[in-house]
Amino acid sequence: MKINLISDTVAHPSPGMLKAMMSAEVGDDVFKEDPTVNALEQKVARMFGMEAALFFPSGTMTNQTAIKLHTQPGDQLICDKYAHVYNYEGGGASFNSGVSCKLVDGNRGMMTVSQVEEAINPPDFYHSPRTALVCIENTTNKGGGACWDVEELEKIKSLCTSNGLAYHLDGARIWNAMAAGTIDPKTCGELFDTISVCLSKGLGCPVGSLLLGSEPLMEEAIRIRKILGGGMRQSGYLAAAGIYALENNLERLGDDHYRARELGELLATKSFVSYVAPVETNILIFELNEDLMSIDTFIQQLKDEDIHIIGMGGGKLRMVTHLDYTDTMHDKVLSVLSSMP
Ligand SMILES: *Cc1c(COP(=O)(O)O)cnc(C)c1O
Repeated sequence: MKINLISDTVAHPSPGMLKAMMSAEVGDDVFKEDPTVNALEQKVARMFGMEAALFFPSGTMTNQTAIKLHTQPGDQLICDKYAHVYNYEGGGASFNSGVSCKLVDGNRGMMTVSQVEEAINPPDFYHSPRTALVCIENTTNKGGGACWDVEELEKIKSLCTSNGLAYHLDGARIWNAMAAGTIDPKTCGELFDTISVCLSKGLGCPVGSLLLGSEPLMEEAIRIRKILGGGMRQSGYLAAAGIYALENNLERLGDDHYRARELGELLATKSFVSYVAPVETNILIFELNEDLMSIDTFIQQLKDEDIHIIGMGGGKLRMVTHLDYTDTMHDKVLSVLSSMP
């Protein structure tokens, strides 16, 4: 029994999801003639109370499209130093949009409104890049699945409005923030100019993300998606997985959260564990007391039991719970960890 905790992207489509995919009605989505893609886009737009949504092959592409929509070459965006748009999109902000990132030293991937305010370059000081966009991530990936406080998000929204900045949500795991009861989709829709959501993480789809925003923004987003090579044809087979996931896999995210919390609680009792980050959703980040147990030894001991986790660099280890991580697997991981000194 292989137990894979390296990421929530490792989950496979369930038999029910595969059945929904196989029976999807499809057309050519580049001509906007795929009824299943159109239905998914409408469903997600309505859920967040936004005018329009557009289906994409990846969350990297939705984020990159949003950055392109809101900036001109030479501009700067503001994000936390942990942000996916800065760390894990291959330098796409500079490659695709010619923009730089002003990194904020936030807490677990989250910035305060005053930190964002300090990061804005004065618009009349033409020596510095023009600040055009603020990107936030909810939940934070590198920040260990932390959920933003809605009040802080609202304050940053006001700051963006008064400074003429666009406001983008990288909501790859917004479903987890919703399942944790920290935010609801309509509030997200009111706060942000654009929202990116992923179907291929906790929701268990094989592929797919959506970008949400106003009609005019999404009309422009179709053009950018085309330029980036993201126009797909009979993608209704993939969209059907998304519709299935929204109807069946949202509620169960709470299971991932309590399992991650239980793993964190157990690890916190171990002498070889020096730090466990607060577990709010499905991501657990911790550090070892390397005099007692090296990272390599720990990873190998788990691997010997067919339990797979990864290091994140900087002495941090990560476990991520997901749809394919069952109660039986959870019991095994708990017992393996319990038996360690
Ligand atoms: C996974 C993820 C994305 C999208 O990444 P892809 O590899 O393109 O699916 C974007 N933002 C965050 C925070 C993510 O975790």
